[in-house]
Amino acid sequence: MSTKGVIYRVAGPVVTATGISPRMYDVVHVGDEQLMGEVIKIVGDYSIIQVYEDTSGVKPGEPVSNTGRPLAVELGPGLLTSVYDGIQRPLPVLRDKMGDFIFRGVSAPGLSRETKWDFTPVVSKGDEVSPGQTLGTVMEGPMVHKIMVPVGVKGKVDKIEAGSFTVVDTIAVIDGKEVQMLQYWPVRLPRPVREKYQPDIPLITGQRVLDTMFPLAKGGAAAIPGAFGTGKTVTQQQLAKHSDAEIVVYIGCGERGNEMTEVLTEFPELEDPKTGEPLMKRTVLIANTSNMPVAAREASVYTGMTIAEYYRDMGYNVSLMADSTSRWAEAMREISSRLEEMPGEEGYPAYLAGRLSEFYERACRAMTLGGDDGSISVIGAVSPPGGDLSEPVTQNTLRIVRVFWALDTKLRERRHFPTINWLTSYSMYDKQLRSWYASNVASDFPALKEWAMLTLQKESELQEIVQMVGSDALPDEQKISLEVSKMIREIFLQQNAYHPVDTYCPIERQYVMLKLIKKYSDLAIKALEVGVQVNKVAYIPARQRFQQAKYEETVDEELKAVEADMDKQFAELGV
Ligand code: ADP
Ligand code: MG
Repeated sequence: MSTKGVIYRVAGPVVTATGISPRMYDVVHVGDEQLMGEVIKIVGDYSIIQVYEDTSGVKPGEPVSNTGRPLAVELGPGLLTSVYDGIQRPLPVLRDKMGDFIFRGVSAPGLSRETKWDFTPVVSKGDEVSPGQTLGTVMEGPMVHKIMVPVGVKGKVDKIEAGSFTVVDTIAVIDGKEVQMLQYWPVRLPRPVREKYQPDIPLITGQRVLDTMFPLAKGGAAAIPGAFGTGKTVTQQQLAKHSDAEIVVYIGCGERGNEMTEVLTEFPELEDPKTGEPLMKRTVLIANTSNMPVAAREASVYTGMTIAEYYRDMGYNVSLMADSTSRWAEAMREISSRLEEMPGEEGYPAYLAGRLSEFYERACRAMTLGGDDGSISVIGAVSPPGGDLSEPVTQNTLRIVRVFWALDTKLRERRHFPTINWLTSYSMYDKQLRSWYASNVASDFPALKEWAMLTLQKESELQEIVQMVGSDALPDEQKISLEVSKMIREIFLQQNAYHPVDTYCPIERQYVMLKLIKKYSDLAIKALEVGVQVNKVAYIPARQRFQQAKYEETVDEELKAVEADMDKQFAELGV
């Protein structure tokens, strides 16, 4: 079998070669500069390659060599804090080697070969071990990094020692086979788990509209579609910072240069609210720089997912954000058109849906091979052109994911943040998570949330009437209902990501806030029943204080004080 061939044709990121006899998805090196690419189609002797680096200047006749291996990532200590491009080359290393722009044909390993890690074994010589089992640990910054038996290796531990090792040093010998901390894994192949669980624990994010109204389960997948400027990036950063996942994998798939600069400059600045340290200490950041061709976006998505699975396998809860999956889909469209494939809807290839679902289906909560519980929750931003949600990427994504957080331009115009539309968004995990909320927050939590949702739906119906006949025509009870939904929107749903206190709201406080709105509603209805004027009920002073409470340093005491005020003021009205 030949591994050396020549370039026959170059069409942007798509290169056709002859003379190699690859398998699908083999990694090849293209041209004099040995650019990295992947075989995506084979027609007779023609191998069609998507190249992950800029192909300008590459010409027919230049050499092509096949590595005979699929695209794989390096897994091991040193991933956290790293900033990678789509094919796991560390961006800071590339920048040192090449300056700011041209990263062509440079190979830089994903993990440093020099850094030493203090390895502490947890198994002993003579123990029988199997794939996924922990051999020992190293501290990767603040996180315990489990060194696991690689898939495909099992048997008796012949040798294992504590000590300071690089990722390529042998740390153990198992059944005659030398094992290093560094492992490779092909990115398109999901890493195995022992058993997948039902997603019945929520990913708590500290964002009221998400946790209470449209919760994502740990191990579930959510989509955030929204037009430019509606808050996709802010929402994803809030999730990265505040959700109760220990590890964050953030894939920046930007098209415009400034979107990527945003990721590369902002993300490393983010502070971990739990420790005050940089969030990067438990983050892996993958950024497609604007000088990389579109094909690398696809690689970045798989690279990120594989790294997420590796940390899941250690028993961590991982959150994976992709911002934005639309850029990846656009890359598929471009490659597909270069291949002259039959276009599907709006020029996207017919396999768009399949690719998206392969990706989102790697989200899961599971028992790992090592017997731990781990999860990957996936949050994909979608940026539909013009905010039109009927376009193919949004529609295909919605068929797969079970949580839909619809960002709304109208809400943004009203400066209602987060701009998540409470009428069109949904979570299909709602029922499964109900019992978790009932036993971990409060038994009446599910009922309370349902009441709030109904009140908001009623508001949208009432608003239609108000638009026709004016609010004066409404009965008092409905006027109060509108006031209550206003409180739900302004006090509960609106949450300022940039406010030091309001940026994160514990689930217990979410419950207290919503219960207090319900209490106002109940007292208000009683007040009307005993004949209090509707204005007196609506403009009760406690409401003003309630509105501000979430911004107070002592918010929890403040909410108690609001409740006391409310009791007193309604009592004064004779309730
Ligand atoms: P997108 O990624 O959808 O283009 P961004 O996430 O960059 O949009 O958000 C645009 C702007 O909206 C932000 O710069 C910020 O001013 C505002 N914004 C979004 N979400 C919030 C929020 N939760 N709280 C306060 N401001 C927000
Ligand atoms: Mg953005």
